[in-house]
Amino acid sequence: MRCLLLLIVVVALSGCDRPSAHSHKQQMYVFGTLVEVIIWTEDEAAATEAMSQLSAQFQHQHQQWHPWEAGELHTFNQQLTTGKPTPTPDSIAPLLQRAIELSVASDGLFDPSLGQLVKLWGFSDNLVNVTQPPDATQLANFIKQAPHITDLEINNGLAQSHNPRLYLDFGGFAKGYAVDRAIETLRQMGFDNAIVNAGGDLRAIGSKGEWPWRIGIRNPRGEGLIASLQISRDESVFTSGDYERFYDYQGKRYHHIIDPRNGYPAEGFSSVTILHHDAATADAAATALLVAGPEQWREVAKKMGLSQVMVITPRGKISMSPAMVKRIRFEVSPEPNINVVDW
Ligand code: ADP
Ligand code: MG
Repeated sequence: MRCLLLLIVVVALSGCDRPSAHSHKQQMYVFGTLVEVIIWTEDEAAATEAMSQLSAQFQHQHQQWHPWEAGELHTFNQQLTTGKPTPTPDSIAPLLQRAIELSVASDGLFDPSLGQLVKLWGFSDNLVNVTQPPDATQLANFIKQAPHITDLEINNGLAQSHNPRLYLDFGGFAKGYAVDRAIETLRQMGFDNAIVNAGGDLRAIGSKGEWPWRIGIRNPRGEGLIASLQISRDESVFTSGDYERFYDYQGKRYHHIIDPRNGYPAEGFSSVTILHHDAATADAAATALLVAGPEQWREVAKKMGLSQVMVITPRGKISMSPAMVKRIRFEVSPEPNINVVDW
């Protein structure tokens, strides 16, 4: 009997010694935000290796894709302004291709060629360094000759801009694109359960052991979360809002998402949340729908192939697509009234 007891104790102890899967977390400051990677695995060493690989990947992307800091996009932009055909760097070509597709799908409301306009508003730096809107005449002049991504002609890897004001700024979707690449890297390394979260915008794959990943959606007005949702297998959740980067001037809020149709910060929504498979689409779409506003968001969402969308107006009115309602759980009490739209 004593022997049996001893055996049971030994078996139990050796059971404890086996490494069990748990969350490995690392935070990295990149793209002007805090990126958090969570990997659910029992292999500590492999997780550590993955973290350093991702950190290097993000730093490289940040440098190559920054519109205003020295790097390949900056140089490419300078060359484009000459109007001469110029080779598209390998680090930019796939990003540009995807941005063009998304811009066309959004009817030009997401337009990555508006770097000069974003700069005019003072949102080209990570920290807002301008505190009042640009001169109205200056804006009107820009809009009269505003560039569109379609002013860029691409033939056999050579790009040529037909508008000297065209300046590529992938800020509206580069984070999403980078999150997709990070998930790809993790999968190649054999991880099937992970989250790549870039400042609250994320893509999650697999689960946390037996439990699905549950993620929060920030309240655009006020502290904390407004809602949360469970991730099913492989999904991205991206929110664009007027609270990310803004300044108040004479009682009015000016934020960093610009309506290409009039050159002013988009009005009508405080935040737009998109749930979609890939992060690049979700990111570009969140930006596009914030611009689209209450009149057009459904039409643009459908053109971009989205079905799960939540929008919140500055007065706090929440509307959702029917597919989104099924996914959302409110984290505020009392639960807000929501308007479920026809889809
Ligand atoms: P965040 O990066 O704060 O999550 P977004 O994804 O909406 O928010 O991206 C905002 C950034 O996109 C701006 O800082 C600017 O660089 C760029 N941008 C602003 N307006 C547009 C637009 N209409 N289309 C594409 N990019 C835009
Ligand atoms: Mg975006």
